[in-house]
Amino acid sequence: MDITDYSYVVVGSGLLGAVVAERIASQLDQPVLVIEKRDHIGGNCYSAVDPATGIEYHRYGTHIFHTSNEKVWNYIRRYTTFNSYRHKVLSCYNDRLYQFPINLETINRFYNVNLKPYEVDAFMDTVRKGGAGEPSNFEEQAIARLGRDLYEAFFKYYTVKQWQADPRDLPASIFNRLPFRKNYDDNYFFDRWQGIPEKGYTDLFQRLFADKKIRVMLNTDYFDLRHRLKKDACLIYSGPIDRLFDYKYGRLSWRTLRFEQEVVDKEDYQGNAVINYPGPDIPYTRIHEPRHLHPEKAYRKDKTIIFREYSLADKGDEPYYPIPSESNQRLLALYQQEARMLKNIFISGRLGDYKYYDMHQTIDKALEIFETGVLPLTRTIHAV
Ligand code: FAD
Ligand code: UDP
Repeated sequence: MDITDYSYVVVGSGLLGAVVAERIASQLDQPVLVIEKRDHIGGNCYSAVDPATGIEYHRYGTHIFHTSNEKVWNYIRRYTTFNSYRHKVLSCYNDRLYQFPINLETINRFYNVNLKPYEVDAFMDTVRKGGAGEPSNFEEQAIARLGRDLYEAFFKYYTVKQWQADPRDLPASIFNRLPFRKNYDDNYFFDRWQGIPEKGYTDLFQRLFADKKIRVMLNTDYFDLRHRLKKDACLIYSGPIDRLFDYKYGRLSWRTLRFEQEVVDKEDYQGNAVINYPGPDIPYTRIHEPRHLHPEKAYRKDKTIIFREYSLADKGDEPYYPIPSESNQRLLALYQQEARMLKNIFISGRLGDYKYYDMHQTIDKALEIFETGVLPLTRTIHAV
């Protein structure tokens, strides 16, 4: 089939594109063309086996699947089996390791006390020393909840390193993403279901794309080829929204990441998948050791691989995280207004919506686009 013949075109082979393509092929029984500019499928969830160690790792940063959404959980398990991994993070402050996010163990260790859960509130009142008014930014919110000592130890410089911005210029909502627990629960996520695909994320994507009606073109930029596609094709676009409109109002900014990889001649380098480094003296934000993501695998015992993560605001080639500033939100609103005028085009995913989505939210979004957008459109046009 020639590329000019496809009535369904998906831009991007990440989770958004893969789920919509799978739905179109399996539910509408229609051919789908998936266009991907990278040399691999899977978008930022892409995983591969490191040749030096045999360890499965995530090229764009550690990805842990977690959800409480039953529909998403039931859908995705048709394409993969999840292992029993539960995400727990440690934070290294002044060369000592603490459980993170802050819980009772963190407080007891940090202040060298031995509090019971019911004593935490009164103790925190003494260390918080009150704050003036309603917190209006990250720093004020953190101090209001945890006091200045814990804020400066675990949050202030980490956030400066991560966002390359003053925490007083960041919204309180970013701080609120993390819980503060008055018990010994050290799970990073609250969700009902959690795990890592036993065979890796790339295998999951291969299964999503397995239908013969789906054709994936790698190393292909949609904008180099769009003049050749069917004019009235239904387009699902998961690339950056500003690019779709030739950046006519200006560019949205992104925070990007850089990973420094090292193979270490040890079975276990740090004893945990992720350790955060909140101090100003260490340039990276965290170290990932992916062997811990697969406790079910018998990896070799003489080598491990680690990745030091550095954050770069708007300097790298790869967009990772939207930057929640007022100017970006204004720009986004202009592009979204243009997008609403387009027919037969669905723009979404983390690049299309310019929104941080966890994987389960991306899948939910993809299912919604198929059910409430692509399906009704198909019924109207083709009377399916
Ligand atoms: P993407 O994965 O970015 O896919 C978009 C694809 O479109 C890309 O492959 C891109 O190359 C392609 N594309 C763009 N423009 C074009 C073009 N012009 N032509 C052709 N192709 C194009 N979620 C979790 O649930 N748990 C986690 O632990 C977690 N960790 C994360 C860690 C990091 C560092 C990041 C950045 C994200 C993390 N996420 C996590 C979120 C997860 O990565 C996203 O939910 C998911 O990848 C979004 O899928 P997507 O398809 O919207 O975008
Ligand atoms: N954060 C921090 N110290 C840490 C981990 C997180 O200060 O050790 C801050 C950081 O600003 C981050 C926010 O808390 O953006 C929310 O944490 P989350 O795990 O959601 O981080 P993200 O997904 O942004 O990496």
